[in-house]
Amino acid sequence: MKIICIGRNYSEHAKELKNAIPSKPMFFLKPDSAVLPKRNPLFIPEWTQDLHYEVELVYKVNRLGKYISAQHAHKYYDTVGIGIDFTARDIQEQVKAKGHPWEIAKAFDGSAAIGSKFLPLAEFKDQNKISFQLQKNGELVQDGLSNDMIFDIDQIIAYVSQFMTLKIGDLIFTGTPSGVGKVNPGDRLEAFLEGQKMLKVDIK
Ligand code: ZN
Repeated sequence: MKIICIGRNYSEHAKELKNAIPSKPMFFLKPDSAVLPKRNPLFIPEWTQDLHYEVELVYKVNRLGKYISAQHAHKYYDTVGIGIDFTARDIQEQVKAKGHPWEIAKAFDGSAAIGSKFLPLAEFKDQNKISFQLQKNGELVQDGLSNDMIFDIDQIIAYVSQFMTLKIGDLIFTGTPSGVGKVNPGDRLEAFLEGQKMLKVDIK
């Protein structure tokens, strides 16, 4: 299983980090070892002073495919969940400045927190307008709507599958809306999908 993550997919978030709006989807990978085991807290790694949360919609691939067209991409997933892409922002800035890969800032153990369940998309009123939120210590910090994505899930699948085969069980983190920020020991993060609490992470 691989985790494909899209960067800079919401214009307000690209602006808050002073990044240009991309003309093509931009993606990176997390290994399966990045998944935070369910109900485990996340221990802030000792090598970062600026660990950020990024709440994101996560789609699960349910069919093997390569060179999938955007038109047929909807046949490759039927559920959506929520996740947090934990990012060591200080380390990411350092490697970005050198033009180096992002893995040490984004692919470390525990950096992919994933909600307890995936919801069938057939049950959504409007699959293009999925709402999701993140609360930190009970306060709303991120509030997203899927139709604010620069590249929607079908465009993402079409793009990524030109380069790599999508396999059953692969996860696609679709980028974060604005409002990212730092976590500190003692913080509690709670993520909501269509108003339902799907994920809780305690930071230690
Ligand atoms: Zn992200």
